[in-house]
Amino acid sequence: MEEAILTGIETRTSSPIRIKRNQHYQSLNTVGLYPAGEGAGYAGGILSAGIDGIRVAEAVALSIVAGRV
Ligand SMILES: Cc1cc2nc3c(=O)[nH]c(=O)nc-3n(C[C@H](O)[C@H](O)[C@H](O)COP(=O)(O)OP(=O)(O)OC[C@H]3O[C@@H](n4cnc5c(N)ncnc54)[C@H](O)[C@@H]3O)c2cc1C
Repeated sequence: MEEAILTGIETRTSSPIRIKRNQHYQSLNTVGLYPAGEGAGYAGGILSAGIDGIRVAEAVALSIVAGRV
């Protein structure tokens, strides 16, 4: 644009891989590991990362109550 001082390109990349987790949000092969958020392949933005964080926090609390960890 005429009045622009600097124009930059923004790339949007998210993790193409997903660390698998079971119904208790725990890693399939590492007990006590809870893959969450964008890096683990469960979110692609601030809101979805936040929601996934809440789900995993609830799952951790439930696992503690149920004696699964
Ligand atoms: C330039 C840019 C612009 C974006 N704009 C938007 C937008 O406008 N709207 C939107 O919804 N989303 C946007 N996003 C995406 C959004 O930022 C991410 O989806 C979100 O931050 C993911 O949250 P997260 O907690 O899963 O991961 P992250 O926010 O990446 O948090 C991971 C944290 O782990 C830390 N960490 C990494 N390795 C280790 C380690 N070994 N030990 C300890 N800590 C470690 C990192 O330092 C980081 O603090 C943007 C992303 C980028 C890069």
